[in-house]
Amino acid sequence: MSGAISSLRMRIPYRELPPPNITIPPSATTLPGAVAALKEFLTAPAPRNLPNRTAVLTGAGFSVASGLADYRGANGTYRVNKAYLPIFYTDFLNSHATRKRYWARSYVGWTSLQKAHPNVGHHALARLHQLNLVSNVVTQNVDSLHVRAHPLMPTVELHGSLDYVVCTSCRTRSSRAAFQDELTRLNPVWADFLRKAIASGALATEDPAERQRRGGFRMNPDGDVELPDAPYTTFRYPPCQSCLTKPPKLADGSEGRVHVDSDGALSSGSTAGFLKPAVVMFGEDISSDVKQAAATAIDSAGRLLVLGTSLATFSAWRLAKQAKQNGMPVAVVSIGGVRGEDIFISGLDPDQTGSQGIRVEMSTESLLPALVEEISRTAPAGIDHVHESPQTFAPIPGASMIE
Ligand SMILES: [Zn+2]
Repeated sequence: MSGAISSLRMRIPYRELPPPNITIPPSATTLPGAVAALKEFLTAPAPRNLPNRTAVLTGAGFSVASGLADYRGANGTYRVNKAYLPIFYTDFLNSHATRKRYWARSYVGWTSLQKAHPNVGHHALARLHQLNLVSNVVTQNVDSLHVRAHPLMPTVELHGSLDYVVCTSCRTRSSRAAFQDELTRLNPVWADFLRKAIASGALATEDPAERQRRGGFRMNPDGDVELPDAPYTTFRYPPCQSCLTKPPKLADGSEGRVHVDSDGALSSGSTAGFLKPAVVMFGEDISSDVKQAAATAIDSAGRLLVLGTSLATFSAWRLAKQAKQNGMPVAVVSIGGVRGEDIFISGLDPDQTGSQGIRVEMSTESLLPALVEEISRTAPAGIDHVHESPQTFAPIPGASMIE
């Protein structure tokens, strides 16, 4: 089923216009209709010999209600900031200036990411897991809100987590929060700017336009901030402390140089010990552990529930396709078009009412709490039990970002 997993490299998301939207089943155009269809989807027996479990695949749309920008517009194109261009892994590896720029912008953006909390959609998923209606989550989001909202449900963070930094030489992971404190120590002028940005209220609002008006900058989903005319060249960042103590070998066998200034900031001319956010950058491969964990999450289920994603990244699209190839019913709840959605809705019985597949254009933070409410209202007393050991397959190292 998932035997041939070729290299999964992050690419710039697919940006062609998806086909026009269609609601399946037709009764799902209203909220009660969509709730009824989704309830049937989750409770109908899985087809053939597939496991009676539901895997969930989420994307940026799922975190919008937590105040995090969604760069998928109504037509699957960038909406929040058209000027946004993602950073490439090779540029980060090869350029001290690029790293300065990245960490300067991330330094400011981190404050808002830290303030984001799981939304009602995350909490509804947690409840559905307690009710044994969903079994595990694969998310494209790097905000770790799933892990915080439902720590007991196995979660694969496909593109990593902004809660950590990782060394590009020795792969040691450490806390992003502690790294932030180091950036504050090394960059007093930026720390002052950040204090003023917070005081201006620019970081308190979740409206991108208002944020730009108050503070004069924009923010992207990965926590990046646009600072017009800000001197990135002055920004300093520390190296990996392990590599500073014991310089790593480079690919050619020579010893890497990890040099610091008198304050402990990495000096130009260093060739190793670079810390990067523990997220998959564009042009970077998803680790084989994480790829395998995501594929296993799909293969261990008999249904796939796709929430708040246009499946624009190839890594997410191929998981949904894998589910379809496995013969799993697929439900897609997302505002805006979805990449290749015709393959999920073709061949369904026109009279089916949710058990074979669903496509609704509705926000997850509206639909999921309504579903939970409906199930709580109608469920027999016996259904409401918390199951303590949800994971029926062996955990895979690297599958979860909880350490
Ligand atoms: Zn290191």
